[in-house]
Amino acid sequence: MHKVFQVGAKTFVLDQAKAEAAFAAKKVINGRETMTFNLLPLKYQWAYDLYRTMKANHWEPEDIPMGKDIEQWRDEKIVSDVERWIIRMGIGYFSAAEGIVGDNIQHVVRELVTAPELKLVLGRHAHEENIHADSLLYMIASLGINPHECEAMFEDVPTIVRKNEFVTKVSKELRRDLDLTLPENKRLLAKNIFVFGQCMEGTQFYGLFGMILSLYRQNKFPGIGQMFRYTLRDESNHIEVFRNLFMDLVEENREIWTAEFKEELRELMREAIKLEKEFIRDCLPVNAVGLAVEEFLTYIDYIADRRLEGCGLTPLAAGVKNPLPWLAEMMDIKKEQNFFEGRVTEYQKASSLTVASDDEL
Ligand code: FE
Ligand code: MN
Repeated sequence: MHKVFQVGAKTFVLDQAKAEAAFAAKKVINGRETMTFNLLPLKYQWAYDLYRTMKANHWEPEDIPMGKDIEQWRDEKIVSDVERWIIRMGIGYFSAAEGIVGDNIQHVVRELVTAPELKLVLGRHAHEENIHADSLLYMIASLGINPHECEAMFEDVPTIVRKNEFVTKVSKELRRDLDLTLPENKRLLAKNIFVFGQCMEGTQFYGLFGMILSLYRQNKFPGIGQMFRYTLRDESNHIEVFRNLFMDLVEENREIWTAEFKEELRELMREAIKLEKEFIRDCLPVNAVGLAVEEFLTYIDYIADRRLEGCGLTPLAAGVKNPLPWLAEMMDIKKEQNFFEGRVTEYQKASSLTVASDDEL
């Protein structure tokens, strides 16, 4: 069926069949490749919606004052050695982990997916990793930490090295020419998306989120805590981006979803949990004021099971209760920060102007 649009002497013909074929050719992988980045018609509505949510949460490190943190960092009476050690581990781990995630998005995942709206949200995701990396630079500079120290931690702390190897391994496997029509290669990509989204960002980031934000709840390092709250909120969207991507990839390629593959993914999560628990014990060698090691370890079991369930996989430690219920509330950043209020509102307004309602699309 053809529909003709006419403006004066000019006409434009919409070929309905051709438009529908183009829509059907939109796929997570092995879809139509065009150089024109055709966002419309949207097939993956969730990707566009998450892109808008992420954009509305925009923040910049320099908006957060660090005066109080600098004062506390220097005062032996206010901050203990254990607390200072947690901050160092946090800065040391995240300053490179954010880069690993961003690099995997740009050079692996965004390269391999074919639908433009998926590339759009992945572009935003990668940009947020740049903001996170920049926030760590800002923390390092504010506290006067020697930048080489962070690099040394990344290379010399065995629990950090092992966490990194766990993820870089599944990234390297995909950095070559791959025939993505083969089930084994589809599984490599699904594994990458699962490991980065659910095991790393979804589980292995949470030991430090828990520890640093529990210091923040005790009014320690308010600037760093604030940045970690924004980061936690961003990460929750990243986990959702990768979860949706994973689910749609599986949905469109059902042949990969075997009992064996499901078990392989659960095993990867099991390994991720083990590495994270060893890392938590390194960060918090003894129970310090208001910080109980056991709670953080249990939290990892709890959150890992939520990630598995989110991907349609059987939990590993079913029935574990959330020992840190306050952590979820930390993402709920409303209008409490006056210095930030104006900007958040501005971004929200700007984003609502570009919205085409769902039934228009
Ligand atoms: Fe991040
Ligand atoms: Mn992230």
